Amino acid sequence: MTAGLDEKLEPIYQDVLKRNPGEKEFHQAVHEVLETLGPVLVKYPEFAESKIIQRICEPERQIIFRVPWQDDDGNIHINRAFRVEFNSALGPYKGGMRFHPSVYLGIIKFLGFEQIFKNALTDLPIGGGKGGSDFDPKGRSDSEIMRFCQSLMTELYRNLGEYTDVPAGDIGVSTREIGYLFGQYKRITNRYESGVLTGKGLDWGGSRARTEATGYGTVFFAEEMLKARDESLDGKTVVVSGSGNVAIYAMQKAQQLGAKVVACSDSSGIIVDDEGIELDRVRRIKEVERRRLSVYADEKKSAKYVEDGNVWHVPCDVALPSATQNELNGKDAKKLIENGCIAVAEGANMPTTPEGIQIFQKAGIAYGPGKAANAGGVATSALEMQQNASRDSWTFKHTEERLREIMVNIHKNCYETADEFGSPGNYVVGANIAGFLRVAKAMEALGLV
Ligand code: NDP
Repeated sequence: MTAGLDEKLEPIYQDVLKRNPGEKEFHQAVHEVLETLGPVLVKYPEFAESKIIQRICEPERQIIFRVPWQDDDGNIHINRAFRVEFNSALGPYKGGMRFHPSVYLGIIKFLGFEQIFKNALTDLPIGGGKGGSDFDPKGRSDSEIMRFCQSLMTELYRNLGEYTDVPAGDIGVSTREIGYLFGQYKRITNRYESGVLTGKGLDWGGSRARTEATGYGTVFFAEEMLKARDESLDGKTVVVSGSGNVAIYAMQKAQQLGAKVVACSDSSGIIVDDEGIELDRVRRIKEVERRRLSVYADEKKSAKYVEDGNVWHVPCDVALPSATQNELNGKDAKKLIENGCIAVAEGANMPTTPEGIQIFQKAGIAYGPGKAANAGGVATSALEMQQNASRDSWTFKHTEERLREIMVNIHKNCYETADEFGSPGNYVVGANIAGFLRVAKAMEALGLV
C-alpha cells in the first residue's frame, strides 16, 4: 500500500506506475492528486464505475518527434521534442512548451497532468496539454534559436489549431521563441491563425498582461490566502526563487502591493539585497542582456551573491517558489518555518516536494499549490484566445482586472471546496477536487470517448 492512498485509488496508482516506468515526476503529480480524491469517490461513486480517474491518468495522445537543426558553425544537432495532449473534455489542449536539457517524457506528462486541473480551475474553456524539448537555449544565438523553432514547428504544426491544441511558453520559451514558432506555422499553413499560440508579442496578436500574468496571478493568490487570515502583503518580506518570467513579475506585483523582496535566484546562485531587489536591474540583466544573476551583485554594493546558495535559507514572511519542480524540499520547508514564514504560493509547477508540502501543512501555514496559485498565466492565455477570436485588443488595466477576478475566484473555489470535503484551509485538497470535479463532470457528459 502506498502512503496516503485510499484502497480504491491504490490499484489505479499501481497501474500508473506499471504503465509509465521511470517517469518519476509524473508518478509524483498523479499521487498528489489521487491522495485527495478519496472523499470524491464516496460522494460520486459513478466516477469509479465509469473509470474517470483511470481515463484522466492516460493522455489522449502523445507525440514524440525528432528535431534536426544546424548551429551557426554548420554542425548538425538532433533534439527530441514532445507534445502530450492530455485531456480535451473542457476545450482545446492548452499548455506551454518547455525548452530545457532536463526535458523527457516524464516531465512533460507531469506538467500536462497538472495542467488539466489548473485549466479547469480557471473556469475557462480550455483542456490540458504540455510540450517541450531537451534543447538547451542557453548560449545559443538568435539565428540558432530561430532555426530550432522552425524545425520543431515543421513537424508539430499538423497537430495544432485554434480548436485543437494551443501551445504557449514555459521555461526557456518566451515571446522570442513564440514568434519564431508562429512565423513558421503561418508560413506552412498559409493562415494567420492568431489563436493557435499564446504569449505572442503585442504587435502581432498578443495580449497585454500575458507576460506579467503568471507572476501577478501568484501574488494575487498569495494576497487572498493572507486576507483569509486577516493579513496582507503590505510590509511583508518576500523571497522568490528564479529570475525568469514568473519570478520577475511576481517580484513586481509583490513590490506594488507594499512587500519588500530581498532575494531571488537563477540556476547558478542567489542574490540577497537587504535594500530590496532592484527589479529594473534584474530585468535588464536577465531579459535584455540574457546574462547571469551574479552580475547584479557585481554592480550593486548592497547585494550579496552566493554561488549555489539556498534561497530558502533567507528569512522571509512569504516565499514564492518560481523556478522549477522539486526545488524546495523538506529541509527547506523546515528552515522557512523556523525563520517565521507564514505563506507559500507556488509560481512554478510542483516546486515543493511531497515532504515539504507535508511540513507546510502540519505547521498550518498558508500553502497555495501551483495548479491554483500559478493558473493566472494560462487564464490570461485563454483571454488572449478570446481577443484573437473577436479580433479585439483589450487594455492592460482591463486584462489585469480580469486576471485578478479569476485569481480571486480560484482562491474562493479552492477554499470552499476544501471546507466542503472536510479539510478546511487545505488548498491542495481544494484545488485538486474543484479541478477534478469540473473535468470529470464534462467527461461523463461527453460519453466514453
Ligand atoms: P523562465 O525560463 O523564464 O525562468 C526560469 C527560471 O528558473 C530561471 O531563473 C532559471 O535559471 C531558473 N531555473 C530553471 N530551471 C532550473 C533548475 N533546474 N534549477 C534551478 N533553477 C532553474 O521560466 P518561467 O519563469 O516561465 O517558468 C518558471 C516556472 O513557472 C516553471 O515551473 C514553469 O512551469 C512555471 N510556470 C510558468 C508559466 C508561464 O506563464 N511562463 C505558467 C505557469 C507555470 P537560469 O536563468 O539560470 O536558467
